[in-house]
Amino acid sequence: MTHLTLHAVTRRFGAAHAVDSVDLSAPDGKLVCFLGPSGCGKTTLLRMIAGLETPTSGRIEFAGRDITRVPANRRDFGMVFQSLALFPHMTVAQNVAYPLKLRKTPQREQARRIAELLEMIQLPHMASRPVTQLSGGQRQRVAIARAIASQPRLLLLDEPLSALDAKLREAMQVEIRLLQQRLGITTIMVTHDQREAMTMADEIVVMEKGRIAQVGKPLDIYRDPVSEFVADFIGLGNILPVTYDGAGAVSLPGGARIAVSQAARVPPSPGDIRLLIRPEDVCVKAAPDAAGPNRVAGMVTFIRDVGASLEATIDCEGFTLTAATTPRETPGLTLGMPVFAELPPHACKLIAARTLQ
Ligand code: ATP
Repeated sequence: MTHLTLHAVTRRFGAAHAVDSVDLSAPDGKLVCFLGPSGCGKTTLLRMIAGLETPTSGRIEFAGRDITRVPANRRDFGMVFQSLALFPHMTVAQNVAYPLKLRKTPQREQARRIAELLEMIQLPHMASRPVTQLSGGQRQRVAIARAIASQPRLLLLDEPLSALDAKLREAMQVEIRLLQQRLGITTIMVTHDQREAMTMADEIVVMEKGRIAQVGKPLDIYRDPVSEFVADFIGLGNILPVTYDGAGAVSLPGGARIAVSQAARVPPSPGDIRLLIRPEDVCVKAAPDAAGPNRVAGMVTFIRDVGASLEATIDCEGFTLTAATTPRETPGLTLGMPVFAELPPHACKLIAARTLQ
């Protein structure tokens, strides 16, 4: 049992709360992502788990033991940072061997473990190459191998892919995820990239201004965000100010009424409601199709057709919608075309509006 739990963990810098009373439990063997905009406290929280930063108050427990004040080098955690921090004067094998040397692992055991790790990251043929002669993705793999060399009980990753170009980054996301699942090592990763979090995480912790805004499985958060902030941060969304009429329907900005689900979620103050509908839930119908329930008239004002997917901007009376579809699903869509946008009730979520602070 290697359970990690945080109890009211707080870190202040002067008067400012970088992390504000965070309670969290990380499931064993899973990958948890801390996700949020720049400055929301993700890195500070990870550094406190690592032991590189001390909480101002609160408690961190690991495997049932209070580790709040245990120094980083006594925590048995593996870490990979944005900078990777590989030793440039060493070879691939020497970098991977470093934590084993520190622990005075016997030579024969070191050699066996290095061979196993290099096999795992698919670089066995590069053992004696200096790390300076590796590509970005290869360096990334070496950093991960080094972090897991001493079989840490927890793996901490701080934006480990941010220096890579988009394509390599996506490939590495899958690679790290598969490796993490194979090893079953509890992993905490910081990212500000929601797509990365959705690709890799078992559980996402969305952070806002030092606090947890929502914790859950990626798709649960995507489909059921608790606030406008979370809805906006996770994926693309149409977020419209609406008024709730008390009977499972809302009035859109232009006055059109549509039925919605989730009436129970309606916030107490009617002025504070937003309607969320994801672009892939907006069905675009050619205007000659009859108007029906939950259909609003509009006109196509922009089309982003990238072959595999198609995104259309639809100007309606009083608001604009984005619809995501495919060229095959909606052939013949053209700029200036009058259309109906259908907003299925089950896909219309009501959420609390972001409060200004
Ligand atoms: P980013 O994605 O930009 O790295 P983050 O979500 O990881 O951001 P943190 O680096 O944890 O955010 O910073 C949270 C807040 O704490 C920020 O306002 C930051 O300026 C502040 N902060 C972090 N470290 C220090 C420090 N050593 N001294 C003073 N303020 C700090």
